[in-house]
Amino acid sequence: MRDSPFSGGRVERETTGLKKLIGSLTFRNRPLKQKFFLFSAGVMLWFLAIFAISMAALISLESRSNKIVNYLIPFDRTNQKIIRKLQNLDIGGHDLLTARDQRDVMKITEVSDARLEDIRSFISALQRGGRVNDYSRATGKFIEGFSVRPAVSADLVFVNRLAAQTDRISAGLAVLSNLKTGALASTMPASTMLASRKGADLEGAFKNYDAAIENAVTLSNEYSARTSGIYASDSGGMRSMLLYSFPALSIVLLLATALLVTFTFSISRAVINPVRAIIGQIRALNRGEIDISNRMKVNSHDEIGRLSAEFNGLLETIDSMAKFKKMIEEDENVEDVYSRLGTEFKYFGLDEFTIYEIANSQNKMKTVFPPQGLANPMCNPDILDNCYLCRAKKTGHRISSLQYPGICKSFMDGEEKRHVCVPLMVGGTAGGVVQFIFDQSDLNEHRLSAIDGWIRAAEQYIRESIPVIEAKRLMSTLKDSALKDSLTGLNNRRFLQEYTESLVAGTLRRGKNIGLIMGDLDYFKQVNDVYGHNAGDAILKETADILRKSVRASDLVIRFGGEEFLILLMDVERDGTAGVAEKIRTTIEDAKLKVMDGNVKKTISLGISEFPVDTESFWQAIKYADVALYEAKRTGRNKTVRFAREMWKEEQF
Ligand code: GH3
Ligand code: MG
Ligand code: MG
Repeated sequence: MRDSPFSGGRVERETTGLKKLIGSLTFRNRPLKQKFFLFSAGVMLWFLAIFAISMAALISLESRSNKIVNYLIPFDRTNQKIIRKLQNLDIGGHDLLTARDQRDVMKITEVSDARLEDIRSFISALQRGGRVNDYSRATGKFIEGFSVRPAVSADLVFVNRLAAQTDRISAGLAVLSNLKTGALASTMPASTMLASRKGADLEGAFKNYDAAIENAVTLSNEYSARTSGIYASDSGGMRSMLLYSFPALSIVLLLATALLVTFTFSISRAVINPVRAIIGQIRALNRGEIDISNRMKVNSHDEIGRLSAEFNGLLETIDSMAKFKKMIEEDENVEDVYSRLGTEFKYFGLDEFTIYEIANSQNKMKTVFPPQGLANPMCNPDILDNCYLCRAKKTGHRISSLQYPGICKSFMDGEEKRHVCVPLMVGGTAGGVVQFIFDQSDLNEHRLSAIDGWIRAAEQYIRESIPVIEAKRLMSTLKDSALKDSLTGLNNRRFLQEYTESLVAGTLRRGKNIGLIMGDLDYFKQVNDVYGHNAGDAILKETADILRKSVRASDLVIRFGGEEFLILLMDVERDGTAGVAEKIRTTIEDAKLKVMDGNVKKTISLGISEFPVDTESFWQAIKYADVALYEAKRTGRNKTVRFAREMWKEEQF
């Protein structure tokens, strides 16, 4: 639909890139449902982010603490136990060296073997994973037991080296134990023993044994240092993880809350503000105020935006309707109203239409728009004489051949054209019909729905204009009856009074003349006396017809008095009036005027003047014509007399 001249502007649209970006970030132009869906999806996303950060931190903490608690600590404890066992082995070695009898040697060797066995079992637990059961080999008591995990490859290198070293210690112990046993078996006193070769061997074996243990302890210590390093780095990692995850979580939480508050605020504002504005506008409308300048801002293309735009549309329609109504009320006559309606229809896109007016008293209808009538009428011309052949008039309903082709039998061009006829309902009956015509070939679903909208809009305008059309029609009928003579149908003296001004102004503007002919039937009284008053009336009517036919359509014939007529010849040539007057006189002289069963003959006397040839005053010109008529009567009747200056004797009138 095109804009009506009464309708306002259109929806404002953002153009700048920044606004577009903000619009898309705040889901401005998405439907409300999508907006809330995206909003909750966004909230969930933030929750997920917080959850993911917390989970990542917790998982990392868990894996590190797991490594420390379940791997590093048991490993280190086992290692510490190995070191303790090794130190005890070292002490055992010294004891072995100084042992005095066989039984002590055996006992120390047994305990040392048991300790070596413990070390092996610890190492095996470290290699393959398993339980570490610690017994005191001095007392045989169980100290503690725990599980260890298999060593990771980097640690395994140490453990394997430790295992190899244990084997060396074990071999060393066997050598030392054997040599000691051998030494105790000889009879050599202990003091010389040390200095002997055997003594030197024992010394050497002990040193080997001691060195092997020393090596193992060094390895274990190295390994312990390594473990402590890993432990320190892991626990440091844990601490920094805790240190960073708290602020990270706080920032994310803060950001999420800020965004949540902003979005909630912006979404609720986008909904609440227009709704409040609409409520305000509706209140104003209720008070009868239409403030079209206070249009709703359309900021979004969602439902709220549409609501605002529709509301603006509604305001504009009400406003344009009010303006339209005021305009047609101020229009001069009903033809202007039809023409303005026509302009509106064209604005809607309804280009082809006809407005019919119905004279209900006579069952007739006539084309009033286009004012010049129709070159190719779409309807059977019979409807003009019998308006009940028009289906819209008969039913008082909208008749559309868009849905029902052939619905009206009076519509003739059903093959190529379709029509929608809207009755102008006045007091329950159709006072007119507007017929809209559409090309059959143009019609498709899209156009049909557009047409439906246009027709509805047109109907609104029609409804608004009906009371005005009615009032104007009534006014014009009243005016007609006041300005027309009911007997002859000619204009009366009041008409002359009403239109003199514009007639005179137009004539002077064009630089033309008005020819005035004042006529009076001769001895008319006799007709009344002889044939009666009705016969007199009939003769007056016939005379009026003759006068009307004797002049052009643009000329005016006025019944000036009882049997006196004034004829105004518009735009006549100078001195051109007399010829017309003479023609009138002879026509009446020749006419056989019907009176009851027979005919009578009558004559007419005519006086002529010309405006502004004879006088600048129009009313003076009428008087001059009357003077000339008097002269015609005085000098014999049935004649035409042109006014002459000498006829005017001021004191006579
Ligand atoms: P003349 O003009 O030739 O001097 O004679 P006249 O008989 O026409 O004289 P006058 O103008 O005095 O008479 C006019 C008569 O016309 C008087 C009246 O009875 C008659 N008359 C005026 N109006 C009507 C009318 O509406 N109907 C009829 N039947 N007669 C009318
Ligand atoms: Mg007369
Ligand atoms: Mg008279």
